[in-house]
Amino acid sequence: MRPSPILPGAAVGVLGSGQLGRMFALAARQMGYRVHVYSPDSDTPAGQVGDVEVAAAYEDLDRVRAFARGVSVVTFEFENVPSATSRAAAEVVPVRPDGHVLHLTQQRLREKTFLQDGGFPVTPFRAIRSAADLESAVRDLGLPGVLKTANFGYDGKGQQTLRPGADLAAAFAALSGTEGIYEAFVEFEQEVSVIAARGLDGHTAVFPVFGNSHARHILDLTVCPAPIPPSLAAEAMAMARGILESLQVVGLLTVELFVTRDGRLLVNELAPRPHNSGHLTLDACVTSQFEQQLRAVCGLPLGATDLRRPVAMANLLGDVWEDAGGVPDWSAALADPEVRLHLYGKAEARRGRKMGHLTATADTLEEAVRKVRDARRHLLRDASPS
Ligand code: AMP
Repeated sequence: MRPSPILPGAAVGVLGSGQLGRMFALAARQMGYRVHVYSPDSDTPAGQVGDVEVAAAYEDLDRVRAFARGVSVVTFEFENVPSATSRAAAEVVPVRPDGHVLHLTQQRLREKTFLQDGGFPVTPFRAIRSAADLESAVRDLGLPGVLKTANFGYDGKGQQTLRPGADLAAAFAALSGTEGIYEAFVEFEQEVSVIAARGLDGHTAVFPVFGNSHARHILDLTVCPAPIPPSLAAEAMAMARGILESLQVVGLLTVELFVTRDGRLLVNELAPRPHNSGHLTLDACVTSQFEQQLRAVCGLPLGATDLRRPVAMANLLGDVWEDAGGVPDWSAALADPEVRLHLYGKAEARRGRKMGHLTATADTLEEAVRKVRDARRHLLRDASPS
């Protein structure tokens, strides 16, 4: 028998307390739920808008169980929560997505092996546990290639691009004893992502494809619809649905993909949660990715994923504050009435830290991109045209 849905008025628990948890909490509160947030920190982006903020270590399993007793379901906003933490919570209430999804997506080798075995296209890769492994991987897959730590990598952290003539011994040493993965370099035309949801009843809903560009390994700009042929977009969405179903996810799954220069799709990475590239759903889709996560983990019917209007999203890193000399010019950025501001409540603006984002909607994608870039530039006060 299928479990009954968790209805508005109930409390939902979130492991992790960053901006993804914040926007999830806002969506949940909008629908009348209470939100409890668990992370090692206090006065966090999510804690500020939740009903209860617990500041305790993920390893403190008694606190985790006590937290779980106060809610009807636990979800998470970042996948590097230790497996023991989600297991402890799962002794008390459902954890969605399930711990096996978390475990798989915490480690690149496990994730890529699962994808390859399931027939989903990935760039050729090898496990790296010794300097000799790296030498033979480079012989097999050639240079350039990308050496990554197998664990806990995001936003390009722990990643080295090896080019012809690279010092392989030094590259291996830089892994500092952790397991690595060597990937054949992908000559990509574009990076795209697909966010898909699966409910308790097995129904799925897939958002349209997002087109992503990065600066210094951090997402910079996302657009929707992605500027790729409709047939390729349909293929990417079908692939995301296939991965979601083979993992039996209850919740969200984000699939990051490369579009190669010869027009093929390769899966780069999975994330079992909302994603930075999906922030534009808040302003441009019928249902946001955060509301969708809530509906999925609570066993409610999923919402429609249709795009209402062409949209572009630009991340705001701490750099903006520094470059603006302290306080960005919010009024100037919001001069266009179709530009919207989202800030995450982080006190300290550091270079490279995600502080917020802007979105712009317009009649055309080109116009939306122009507006959002202009808005971000106007934050710098004495902005000169770029
Ligand atoms: P990741 O941490 O795997 O998401 O990688 C961060 C970024 O590095 C990606 O968004 C790509 O821009 C780039 N990248 C990662 N893997 C590869 C690869 N095998 N070939 C070329 N570029 C890559």
